[in-house]
Amino acid sequence: MGPELGFDPEALRAKYAAERRRRLRPDGLAQYVEVAGAFRHFADDPWAGPPAPRAPLTDEVDVAIVGAGFGGLLTGVRLRELGVRRLRLIDKAADVGGTWYWNRYPGIACDVESYVYMPLLEELGYVPTEKYAKGPEIFAHCRRIAEHYDLYRDAALQTEVRRIRWDAADSRWIISTDRGDAFRARFVSMANGYIQRPKLPGIPGIETFTGHAFHTSRWDYAYTGPGLEKLADRRVGLIGTGATAVQCVPHLAAACAHLSVFQRTPSTVDVRANAPTDAQWAASLPEGWQRRRIENFQTLTAGGDADEDLVADAWTSITKKLFLMRRQDGGANAGELADFAKMEEIRGRVDEIVSDPATAAALKPWYGYFCKRPCFHDEYLQTFNRDNVSLVDTRGLGVKRITETGVVVDGVEHPLDCLIFATGFEVGTDYCRRSGFTLIGRDGRTLTDAWRDGVHTLHGVHVHGFPNAFVLSIAQSGFTVNFPYLLDVQATHVAWVIARALESGVAELEADVDAEAAWVDQVMRRSTASLDRARSCTPGYYNREGSYDDTTRQGSFFYGGPTEYADLLASWREEGTFAGLGIRRTSAARS
Ligand code: NDP
Repeated sequence: MGPELGFDPEALRAKYAAERRRRLRPDGLAQYVEVAGAFRHFADDPWAGPPAPRAPLTDEVDVAIVGAGFGGLLTGVRLRELGVRRLRLIDKAADVGGTWYWNRYPGIACDVESYVYMPLLEELGYVPTEKYAKGPEIFAHCRRIAEHYDLYRDAALQTEVRRIRWDAADSRWIISTDRGDAFRARFVSMANGYIQRPKLPGIPGIETFTGHAFHTSRWDYAYTGPGLEKLADRRVGLIGTGATAVQCVPHLAAACAHLSVFQRTPSTVDVRANAPTDAQWAASLPEGWQRRRIENFQTLTAGGDADEDLVADAWTSITKKLFLMRRQDGGANAGELADFAKMEEIRGRVDEIVSDPATAAALKPWYGYFCKRPCFHDEYLQTFNRDNVSLVDTRGLGVKRITETGVVVDGVEHPLDCLIFATGFEVGTDYCRRSGFTLIGRDGRTLTDAWRDGVHTLHGVHVHGFPNAFVLSIAQSGFTVNFPYLLDVQATHVAWVIARALESGVAELEADVDAEAAWVDQVMRRSTASLDRARSCTPGYYNREGSYDDTTRQGSFFYGGPTEYADLLASWREEGTFAGLGIRRTSAARS
């Protein structure tokens, strides 16, 4: 160990590799159970009753937007700003909000500063009440956006899209839903979410549990009580220790008789330091403050330079440090050493907070900082000092078995009244399975077929073979830790393309094969580092449970400068030639 470092890089490398090997499983993504068949009810909507009957929709709109979370809302906002009136948001939820509609578990909050995460604050004259807003405040903001921009009008809520089919005869999409709708749209924009379909662990015996069970994204307040008061005499088990679990564990522990937290891999848990918004500061914010703050955050968290750090939190400090060390290059592995140093700090925090040494040891993460979503919390680790909480560590192997009455680890059964799955969401499964609908493009080809050998797009939004369709996702799109930023970049772009097409009588636009191939090529060239990282990282959804390969990499971010992706799209719009898109015109302009 070099005294100047305070840790032994060689020993850490070996430890990380050993921990990763222990977690690798031959079944990879297949280890999870789809929320279908006998497990279908895990995805039921707990927030709304059966939908009110309505007549099937058979009309026509200019734009159908699938998904009414931030992606769909922002697309609607940007279209409204450009004067597009006939648009329809469609969502299986009973309200807008997406992630913030479904996820209402106790303790839910955003891990990115609300002043940069919550879009359109200046436009709506709203300043969040605290630095890291809680879920209900963000959900309310989604509704505020929908009201302000009149996006509830014509929306089809509690409506699940089943199929979207291109009708080449009149260049329209036909949207079919579970409500018997078959309406037409000139354009479709798919903003149906990156991580939204809950998944369950394929633990033997999962179907036999006779106690109460639910997934964190469908919290059962009827069972727990609105303030969790009904858990007072219950033995509760929670499987999973990712970003969701970190937020809800302290609340569960405070409410139930006994909480058993079943851990496979610990999260990194850094300081949160939330604070209420200072009223004087809020009142003093100058015009344009939010855009400047978002760009400053984006710059610092994506490796750029800035004179000041407006957000000044754990995200900006760690990314600044990691990128700076890499650039200053105190040796080829300066970035790795900075990462080790950060992780030593994270592990040191566990020792400072958790009193039982065995529990503290089990809570220490042994992997690179960005191998999993970093977490920030000031009560999570402290919870393991409580008498009514047990950490059941599975040393990377996962829960062995679920019985009728509890959960088995190391041959010991932990009897439970209630079992909560904080096991995350499907990533890397087939697009149509995840979205719940089939997109059938020109020539009757589905998006699943088109992407069988890897995602291909132009600019991360257009797909050859799918005219007038747009995909909002992280695949082949600019890197960020602040998703609404990316969604707004894409929404602005998609809205511009649609508005221009409607104005200028474009009947069809579709990515050229060559332009698409050039974009895919750029994504591949820029993502070589992601391959190395994914291969050395502990398994998780980021690296498809350790099975990350070139096909997966093709669906990764378009890595570049902090605002390079946004700038590139803006220049493309400025040029105004629809470069890379095949265009078929009609004489009919917008009705
Ligand atoms: P994750 O996929 O991050 O976590 C799932 C957890 O389940 C992991 O700890 C995983 O362990 C564990 N698990 C899976 N199978 C088993 C098993 N067989 N036995 C034991 N444990 C098992 O899901 P989350 O819902 O926590 O988070 C998903 C994402 O949502 C986050 O990464 C983040 O992007 C987002 N999020 C954002 C928040 C925000 O503040 N903005 C808050 C919450 C979530 P292992 O690690 O070993 O795979």
